Amino acid sequence: MAGVAENGGARVVLLGPPGAGKGTQAQVLCEHLGVPAISTGDMLREAVADGSELGRKVQGIMASGALVDDGTMAQVVRERLAKPDAAQGFLLDGYPRTLPQAETLAGILRATGRKLDAVLLVDVPEEELVRRTLLRGRGDDKEEVIRERLRLYREKTAPLIGYYSERGLLREIDGNRSVEDVTAGMLGVFEVA
Ligand code: AMP
Repeated sequence: MAGVAENGGARVVLLGPPGAGKGTQAQVLCEHLGVPAISTGDMLREAVADGSELGRKVQGIMASGALVDDGTMAQVVRERLAKPDAAQGFLLDGYPRTLPQAETLAGILRATGRKLDAVLLVDVPEEELVRRTLLRGRGDDKEEVIRERLRLYREKTAPLIGYYSERGLLREIDGNRSVEDVTAGMLGVFEVA
């Protein structure tokens, strides 16, 4: 992957189950790569907090652990990736989560002459995921909601592993380590010391 960071920017997707530490890693990694971290979960939570039309639409869906529909997500991501700060690259956390979303992302990038550089898969055993997420203690972090989000991850999101692997973009990172070690593993992919 040498050259990704040298080119001044990187277009990266963080993939992995809820609770794997993608958000934490995104915050650190975006500094190193010099690109914005874009978390669709954070964007939706902000919309809910603002009481916007989008927020009112997704509030109940998020509270139950279900996925927001692909059409709504396409609009959210298309608008966000059109902003000037994403022109040189981005670190996507929480999108895509379904195969249609992966196709949407590819289409958005293709239309503007861009493509993904890498998809980092952060994996952690399921019981550790539940333990971590319960510790985080957010409103949408009740155990039955966490289990539902894990179920949806396995059903809808895990197929993206094969999708990106076939396209030569997948890099696997062992997420069952300290935050620092996971960060080091990710930076190794980009050869950023
Ligand atoms: P996250 O913080 O990434 O776990 O997202 C929190 C919640 O926002 C999810 O449980 C979904 O309800 C919703 N959400 C975030 N990103 C997506 C997405 N790409 N597709 C569908 N729903 C999403």
